[in-house]
Parts: sequence; C-alpha cells; structure tokens
Amino acid sequence: MADDIDRANDVAQETIDRIIAKAPKFDAPSLPECLECGEDIPIQRQAFGGRNLCVDCQTVLEKRGRQ
Ligand SMILES: [Zn+2]
Repeated sequence: MADDIDRANDVAQETIDRIIAKAPKFDAPSLPECLECGEDIPIQRQAFGGRNLCVDCQTVLEKRGRQ
C-alpha cells in the first residue's frame, strides 16, 4: 500500500518537473519601447519579461507565423 502511494508521488513529481522544464522562461527583462515601431510597451506587458515588441507588432508577427 505504501509502495503504491510512493509510486504515485514519484509520478506526480516527475510530471511537475517536466512541466517546469518545458515552461517558457521569462528571465530576460522587457524593453520599455517596441523594437519595431518604438511605441511604449505597457508596464503590464513588460511585467511578463522578455517583451521586445508592442502588442500590435507582436500580433503582426504571430499572424505571419513567426514568434
Ligand atoms: Zn510596435
């Protein structure tokens, strides 16, 4: 019985580790202005980290199929 619980815990931990490993990392700081057009990037958007484009330019980029 205890073995089953241990095994279940191991599986759960492995799943969590995998999710964390695959999660995007937002360590990089955001830029205050868009690289493309120079528009201010909203503070709320900068808070995510790693944002170099304004919402408009990011949307255009994603529609082109690149990210
Ligand atoms: Zn822009």
